[in-house]
Amino acid sequence: MKKLIFVTGGVCSSLGKGVTASSIGSLLEARGLAVRMLKIDPYLNVDAGTMNPYQHGEVYVTDDGAETDLDLGNYARFTAAPISRANSITTGQVYREVINKEREGRFLGKTVQVVPHITDEIKSRIVAAGRDPEADVTIVEIGGTVGDMESVPFLEAARQLIHEYGRQDAVSVHVTLVPEVTGGELKTKPTQHSVKELQEVGIQPDVLVCRSASGLDESLRRKLAAFTNVEYEGVISAKDAPTIYQIPLVFHEQGLDQFLLAKMNVESRHADLRAWKEVVRKLTEPKKRVRIGVVGKYMELHDAYKSVWEALYHGGIGNDAGVEIVRIDSSRFEAEGADPGEILSDVDGLLVPGGFGQRGIDGMVAAARWSREHGLPYFGLCLGMQIMAIEWARDVLGWADANSAEFAPDADRAVVSLLEDQVDVKNYGGTMRLGSNDSVFKDGSKPALAYGSTRVSERHRHRYEFSNAFRGDFEASGLVIAGTTPDGELVESLEWPGHPWGVGVQYHPEFKSKPTAPHPLFAAFVAAALERGKKKAHA
Ligand code: GLN
Repeated sequence: MKKLIFVTGGVCSSLGKGVTASSIGSLLEARGLAVRMLKIDPYLNVDAGTMNPYQHGEVYVTDDGAETDLDLGNYARFTAAPISRANSITTGQVYREVINKEREGRFLGKTVQVVPHITDEIKSRIVAAGRDPEADVTIVEIGGTVGDMESVPFLEAARQLIHEYGRQDAVSVHVTLVPEVTGGELKTKPTQHSVKELQEVGIQPDVLVCRSASGLDESLRRKLAAFTNVEYEGVISAKDAPTIYQIPLVFHEQGLDQFLLAKMNVESRHADLRAWKEVVRKLTEPKKRVRIGVVGKYMELHDAYKSVWEALYHGGIGNDAGVEIVRIDSSRFEAEGADPGEILSDVDGLLVPGGFGQRGIDGMVAAARWSREHGLPYFGLCLGMQIMAIEWARDVLGWADANSAEFAPDADRAVVSLLEDQVDVKNYGGTMRLGSNDSVFKDGSKPALAYGSTRVSERHRHRYEFSNAFRGDFEASGLVIAGTTPDGELVESLEWPGHPWGVGVQYHPEFKSKPTAPHPLFAAFVAAALERGKKKAHA
C-alpha cells in the first residue's frame, strides 16, 4: 500500500497547513500506519539557510544537516517520520537539478520546459520521499496559497500524480479560512472561490479543513459540501484551539482519520490517542506553573525561535508544569543603570537561545552573569553557550576584552573563534557545522545526569567554536567542560560549577524535542526552575 495525501492552502497564508499535515500524520500513526512527510516550498532559494529569520522564521536543521523550513519541525514534533534533506523541496532545488541535467546534455537536445521537465522532477521527488518499503502514506504539504503563480508547477505535479495513482490512492486536503464579519456571521464565499481555483487546475479536494475563530455548525458544513463537491463528512471545522497539540484530537472527533482511511480503502486499528490526550491535559490543566525568561535577538518575531518555545513547553509537560515564557529583549540589560536582578525578578529560569551577529551580546552577557552569581537556572543554546564562555572570561578570568571572533575579529582573547582551517573561507553557507554528531559528557555532569547517558547525538548549526587555546585557563579557574566531541577536540557543553543548573550546549537540542517525548535537557532545566520557584515561595 502506497498512498499520497496532498495538503494545499487557500484564501490566505498562515492558516496552519503545516499543523494540519502534521496532525493528519499523527492520527494515521495512532492507527498504526507509517507516514512520511514532505514540504514543498515554492521559493527560489535552494534552502532556508540563507533566509532572514525576520522574514522566514526559524531554520529547522535535520540530522543530515539540511537547513529547512520550520514546518519540518512540526512534522518532527507530531510524528515519528524520519526527517532529512529528502523531506524538503524548493523551487530552487528543482530548477537547479533540471538545469544541471540540461547542461550535462541529459535531455538529448529536446526543448526543456516547465511541463514536463520541471513537473517530472517534482513528481519523482514526491514519489522518492515515500519509497521506503516501510512507509504506508506520504503526506505532501504544498506551501503558498492556491492561485499564487509560484505554486502552479507543484499543483500540476500533484494533479498528474492524483490522476496516475487514482483517487483512491491519492487524496487532496485543502485548508481554508471561513472568516467572521461584523455581527458574527461566518462567510463561506472565500472558501468556495478557493476550491474553484483548485478545481481550475484540475484538483478536486476530498477534504476541506475550515479554519474559523468560533467553529462551523452543521448547516454551514452542509452548505460548503454542496457548493464544493466535497462530501459532508469531509468538511472539517477547525476552530482556534488553545494548543496546536489539540488539533489531532479535534480532527479525530470529527472523524477525519476514519474518513481518509475509508477514501483510501485502508483497514486500520482503532486510534490510540492516549499520549496526545495526556499532552493536551498537561498543557491546559498543569499541576504547577513556572516562568522562564528568554533573552535573545529576534524576540519580537514569534516564529524565529519556534522550536525553542515548543521545547520549553515540552519541558513543562515533562514536569506536569505549565511554562510561561517571558520574552526579554537583551537591549534592556544594556540600558544606562539597568538592574539585571530587577529585570529577571519574576522568572525562575533564564534561557539564551541561538543567534548570529553582534547586536545584543553585552545584554546577554549581563543577564548570564546575574544568573551565575545568583543561582538562577540558566540554559544556553549554541550562542547561549558561547555567551557563558565570554562572560566567564571577562569576569572570572578578568579578561575585559574577551569576546567571540564573530563580534570582535581582532580580539586578543577570542575565547570563541573559527577553527584554523575555517579562517580563510568567506563563502557563507559553506562553513557551518551542520547536522548531527555525537557528544560525550563527563560522568556526573548535569547534561549526563539529564540524559541518563554520557554519549548522545545532537544537531548543530554554527560557525564558531569554543577556543581550545584558552581551554586550560577556563578549566583551571573552575569552569566545567561538561561535554566534547568524542575525539575531545571540540567543546560541546559548558557547566557552571557549584550552581543549581547552569548549562550551555553548542548544539540545538530544541530540534529533537517532542510533546510526547520532552527533550531531557529542557525537562531538567524546567525542573531546576520549578525548584527555584519553590524555594522563592518559602523564602
Ligand atoms: N553565531 C554563533 C556561531 O555561528 C552561534 C550560532 C547559533 O547560535 N546558531 O557560532
